[in-house]
Amino acid sequence: MKICKICVMDETDPDITFDENGVCNHCQNWHANRPRDMGLLRKITHIVKERATGEYDCVLGISGGTDSSYLAYLAYWLNLNVLLVHLNDGWNSDEAKWNVKTIIKKTGYDLVEIQVDEPEFRDIVRAYLHAGVVGLEAPTDNCIMTGIHRVVSGFGINNIISGSNWATEGVGVRAWAYPPADTKNIRAIHERFGSLPLKETKLMGLLQKRWALTFRGVREFRLLNYIDYNRSDAIRILAQNWGWKESGRKHCENRYTRFVEGYIYPTRFGFDKRRSHFSALICSGQMTREEALIELKKPAYTQEEFEADKAFFFEKLGLDEFKFGHFMALPIRQHNEFSTHKWSLRLLRIMRPLRRFFR
Ligand SMILES: [Zn+2]
Repeated sequence: MKICKICVMDETDPDITFDENGVCNHCQNWHANRPRDMGLLRKITHIVKERATGEYDCVLGISGGTDSSYLAYLAYWLNLNVLLVHLNDGWNSDEAKWNVKTIIKKTGYDLVEIQVDEPEFRDIVRAYLHAGVVGLEAPTDNCIMTGIHRVVSGFGINNIISGSNWATEGVGVRAWAYPPADTKNIRAIHERFGSLPLKETKLMGLLQKRWALTFRGVREFRLLNYIDYNRSDAIRILAQNWGWKESGRKHCENRYTRFVEGYIYPTRFGFDKRRSHFSALICSGQMTREEALIELKKPAYTQEEFEADKAFFFEKLGLDEFKFGHFMALPIRQHNEFSTHKWSLRLLRIMRPLRRFFR
């Protein structure tokens, strides 16, 4: 298995390419497309200039994980008046619950908690397991995106700040995920393998999102791209100042994501998502390649954590060893074996140059 000379990406990404020096396309892309504009204050000026017209400056989706928590910390010190949004899908880790409470207490920010309809959500997840597709995180991500945009629209707020950032997330692998905004695909998979009608679950499509961003004047600011963002520093600062608790690996504040990334992806799909997380940290100088290789040799889970999360996963989804084993042995399918929004995606690509005129 060929591995990059700079980061730890390897051929478990089927689309990876290497140059003559053995450097992969992810490293090249990370450096070529790194946001270079460090004008944080200019972005903040954009956000607060509409302050007189509304109570809140912006909306921030918080998970209780490092990136969104640190952005809440930053926003608090920048004196932004933030409306927090948190999706409660019933899978939050104890640390995430504690962190969300702590952020509210320390900042005094208001919170809108979005509750997913658990039976329907469970039905979607089971349908995804049955379908054998890789995008197991797409339904949750869509619910988060939908929730944020509904709050933005309901409160008449024009700005979203997001903890997404290039320094720790700038290595993305297309084959390891599926675009969460493709609601047509989510509905098609659920229709085929689900058993409950989706009455309460709200899903926001690609065109609706693009409409809000392009024509309704909603803006997204990834503020962590405009500071020298360092994940370890963020964890230390949050723990020291707010008594914030770390949930372990990236995205592990949610027990569903933790089990999917820590167990289902490596055993069923043959890739380890830590590879892309570590590679971004290597590109941003926050980890060495040697440290990443040592970490990757260790299992993502301790046996004890794994057993606890597996029991939780089974309980939540009404599975047992036999049913889960059955799902894990089904053939792997591609998302495009079900209906997709491919025409909308193409339309959006054509519209991309037009967006600037409407911003
Ligand atoms: Zn690389």
